[in-house]
Amino acid sequence: MTPSVLTLEQETNPWLAAEARFDEAATKLNLDDGLCKVLRSPTKEITVHIPVMLDDGRLEVFTGYRVQHSLARGPGKGGIRFSPDVTLDEVRALASWMTWKCAVVNIPFGGAKGGVICDPRVLSDGELERITRRYTAEIIEFLGPERDVPAPDLNTNDRVMAWIMDTYSMHVRHTQTAVVTGKPLDLGGSRGRPEATGRGCTIVTLKALKKLGIAPSDARVVIQGFGNVGGMAGKLMARAGFKITCIIESDVAVYNPKGLDINALLEHRKETGSIGDFPGAENRDRHEAMFLDCEVLLPAATENAVTSANADRVRCKILCEGANGPVTPAADEILMDKKVFVIPDILANAGGVTVSYFEWVQDRQGLFWSESEVNSKLEEIMVASFDSVVDYAEKHGVNNHTAAYMLALDRVAFAIKLRGIYA
Ligand code: GLU
Repeated sequence: MTPSVLTLEQETNPWLAAEARFDEAATKLNLDDGLCKVLRSPTKEITVHIPVMLDDGRLEVFTGYRVQHSLARGPGKGGIRFSPDVTLDEVRALASWMTWKCAVVNIPFGGAKGGVICDPRVLSDGELERITRRYTAEIIEFLGPERDVPAPDLNTNDRVMAWIMDTYSMHVRHTQTAVVTGKPLDLGGSRGRPEATGRGCTIVTLKALKKLGIAPSDARVVIQGFGNVGGMAGKLMARAGFKITCIIESDVAVYNPKGLDINALLEHRKETGSIGDFPGAENRDRHEAMFLDCEVLLPAATENAVTSANADRVRCKILCEGANGPVTPAADEILMDKKVFVIPDILANAGGVTVSYFEWVQDRQGLFWSESEVNSKLEEIMVASFDSVVDYAEKHGVNNHTAAYMLALDRVAFAIKLRGIYA
């Protein structure tokens, strides 16, 4: 299906978006039909319905998924999200994006993703722990340091990873830290992992600014989402001299043309529960704030922030995709016409999984690195990956998104060809 004939509902279906991007890159690469079929379909899709006892004594059943898209280049890798909006199509798309993401930064993993349909805002800590443990137990035979290695994603964190690590370890009868990444530091976590996605976004945005000849001090930044990715990127970008003029959250946006004090804003949210009414800043409508004039727009929340319905209103020079799938393929075409320099998600937010890879390596070696070692290795990978995507785009006359996909597909297809098909 070409993006232009899709309805908005189809355009914002993540799996259809993933297929559209895949098809475009595969066609441009002239990929063999059989290989296309292999790469297009997820290897394994697991659905579980898990009974969990709630605090009030009621028994509830939650639905969870784990999709392993490709294991061609290594164990499955990818986060687990907890959200009422999780669907199998979404998890499927996110799993395939992990395959391409790991290939773009050239780390030895395949792609996977998990999700549980639940609303963590209304669940107690005990309920969340029981959901996590039972979900882990139901998919346990598909997990393992050599099989599939989960990590945090939307609404999951180091504490959830610790429960997964413990549940897995209880089942295999020995402590196995490398089964999951994004763990607390004291349980085999890596230094620099919590900042890694935001740090990666900052590194590639600095590269893009340099390419466009814009000084960081002249860069006004609008960030959508103030969680792990947006919050960290905001802090690090401010430290690098960028002016963070607007932060958008799900209730309100705050704006200060002179630049917001990110640390103070994080503190303000901790105290008041919202970024709204931040001293010295104006409250803005959260939908309109996305279209403020800026050098850098960083959508770091969920999918479909920019679609064909609003892409022509975007007023940035660089769009750094901090979230997974924040721009639909149809919107991409509009942004290209507007000459926006897009840093595609599978490159822009790959800092997280890159440091997850470092965590997995450290756990398996039992030898831990300093934060500066982690950060410099991350920088090396992000810079090299940015250069290869941008060079590829220029050489083949395609946009950065297509270039990143082509590069990734080529690497995964090559691995499959080298391995051959087991029969
Ligand atoms: N959830 C993150 C992502 O979408 C990190 C995945 C990982 O570290 O395995 O890239």
